[in-house]
Amino acid sequence: MPAFGPCLVLLGLAAAADPKPDGPFALRGYYLTLTRTPTYGLDAWKATIDGVRADGGNLVILWTAGGFKSKKFPATWNHNKDHANIKDDFVRELIGYAHGKGVRVLLGFTPFGYDGVNRMALEHPAWAAAGPDGKPARPFGIHSWGRNLCPARDDTQRFMLDYVKEMALDFYPEADGLLVESSDYAACHCPDCGPKFFDNEFRFVRAISDAVWAEKPDATVVVYPHYFTGADAPGLGVKGARRPFDPRWTVFFTPHSAHPDADLVRKARGAIWSDDSPARGTPTEIKAAARRARAAGCSGWVPSFEAFTYVPTEPEDGQKYLVGRRQLPLGFGWVGDGRPPYDELPARVNRVAYREYARDPDLSDAAFRAALGKELFGPAATAEAVDDALALQRLLVTERTWWQAAPVASPDRVRAMKAAGQLTADRRAEVHRDLDRMRAIEQRYRGKGEPFAGLHRPAGWVADRWAGEDVKLLDP
Ligand SMILES: [Zn+2]
Repeated sequence: MPAFGPCLVLLGLAAAADPKPDGPFALRGYYLTLTRTPTYGLDAWKATIDGVRADGGNLVILWTAGGFKSKKFPATWNHNKDHANIKDDFVRELIGYAHGKGVRVLLGFTPFGYDGVNRMALEHPAWAAAGPDGKPARPFGIHSWGRNLCPARDDTQRFMLDYVKEMALDFYPEADGLLVESSDYAACHCPDCGPKFFDNEFRFVRAISDAVWAEKPDATVVVYPHYFTGADAPGLGVKGARRPFDPRWTVFFTPHSAHPDADLVRKARGAIWSDDSPARGTPTEIKAAARRARAAGCSGWVPSFEAFTYVPTEPEDGQKYLVGRRQLPLGFGWVGDGRPPYDELPARVNRVAYREYARDPDLSDAAFRAALGKELFGPAATAEAVDDALALQRLLVTERTWWQAAPVASPDRVRAMKAAGQLTADRRAEVHRDLDRMRAIEQRYRGKGEPFAGLHRPAGWVADRWAGEDVKLLDP
C-alpha cells in the first residue's frame, strides 16, 4: 500500500461522519423527486448532495419510481424517455457519491399510484382503481399521467413487488432503504377495497419490507401510519387499517396526508416529519415546521425541496398554458437549463433557514437574520440587504403552486387568472405592489456586483417579465 494510503482512508472516514447531532433531529435533509427533473444529470445531483451536506443534512429521500429504466416494466418510464437517468443510469454512482459525503439515500415511490406505477393501468385497464363513484379512477398525475391501481388484485400486488424489488435490489442495492409513500390523492373504492383499502395495500408493504430486510437487515424502511392506527386517511375518504406494527419500521408524517401518532412514534425505529416549507414557504414557515416536528417527537425532519423540470403533457393544476412548456425549477426562470436552483439566492435563504432551525427550532429572529446576512453577503451584510433577501424570497413564493410561479413572476399566470375571472381588483393591486418591490430591489443592486448579484439577478428577471405590453394586465 502506498504511504499515503492510510491518510486517504482517514480523510474518507472524516468525510463520511454524520453531521454533529447538535439539534433535536437525528435525521435531516430534503425530499427530492428525481423522477420529475429529467434535465438534471449526475453533476447537477452531486451539487445537490453537496448542498444537503452543507445544510447539515445526512439523508436524502430520492423519489425514483418512473425515473429508472426498468427492464421488467418499460411502461413505467415511457413518459420519461428524455430523463437523464433513463438515458444514462447514474443513480448508483450518485448514491456512492452521497455516501462519501455522509449522506444516506432512501428511494421513494408510491404503492399503486403516482409516477411510473400509474402508467401500468394504460397497458392493463383492469388494474385501474375505482373512484368514489365506483367507476374507473379518473386519469391523474404529476408529469406521469395514468390511473392509480387497485391493490386487491394478485397481479397488481405482484407488479408492485417485482417493480420495487427491481429498483431497490437490482438497480440500486447500495441505497439505504425505501420511503413507501402512501398515496395522498386517491384510494380504491372497488367492492374489494373501500374500508379494506389499506389492509390490501399493507399486504404489499409487508412483503416489500421483508424482501428488502432479507437482503439488507439494517435497511431503513419508512412507511405511513395508515396501516396501523385505524385513523381516517386525510382526503382519501377511507379509514386506515389496524395491522401489527413491526418496530423495524420508521414512520412518516405530513401535515396534509398523515397526522402524527404518539403511540407509533414510541414504537418505531424512527419518525420523520415532512412538509413543504423549504419548497413553498418562507423562513417563518420553516421555523414553524421545525417546532411542529419537534413537538410531535419526531427524530427526523426531511421536508420537500422539490423542483420540477419536466414538460407537462396535460393541464396540470388545471392550467392549459403550462402544457408543452418546461417547468421552471422552484419557479426560477433565470436559472439555465440543467442547473439546479438551490444555489440561487432565494433558495439559499430557505437553506439557511432549514440549517439553522433544524439545529435550534427556538432560534431568535435576530440570530437568524445575522446567520443569513453572513451566509449571503459576508462582511458586506447590511440590515437592508437582509430585508431585501427576505422580501425577494417571499415574493417568489407568494401564491406559488407546485406548478405555477408566483403571479409577480409570471404574466402568463396573471393572464390565465384574468381569463378565469380570478383577477380581482385586490389581487391585481397586490401583484402590482409586489412588482414595485421587485423593481426597487433591481434598481438598488444594479451594477453593484458581488455579493449582491444574487439579489439583482432574480429581481431583474422579474422586472423583465413585465417590460412589454403585459404590464397592462396590472392596470386598474
Ligand atoms: Zn380495489
